[in-house]
Amino acid sequence: MATKKLSKIALTQLPLEERVTGSYTETIHCPNCGKHAERQHVQESRVVRTQCPACDYLMVTCSLTARVIEAYSPGLYMGDR
Ligand SMILES: [Zn+2]
Repeated sequence: MATKKLSKIALTQLPLEERVTGSYTETIHCPNCGKHAERQHVQESRVVRTQCPACDYLMVTCSLTARVIEAYSPGLYMGDR
């Protein structure tokens, strides 16, 4: 019986090139419906934009102050907790 060696990969680690250029998009789970959503980090305007195509969830926050600039939640899964 062979022993398998598993290498640990940090999934949260972002590619270096994208850190250098500033803006990048990551795929996250929508906080509203749990499906795949996009989180866009825009360095120029210092905002983080979370958008879900499945349920129209939208959240724009300032990455400096963490304040919510714009938010829209369809509320379809709000009771899920
Ligand atoms: Zn969603």
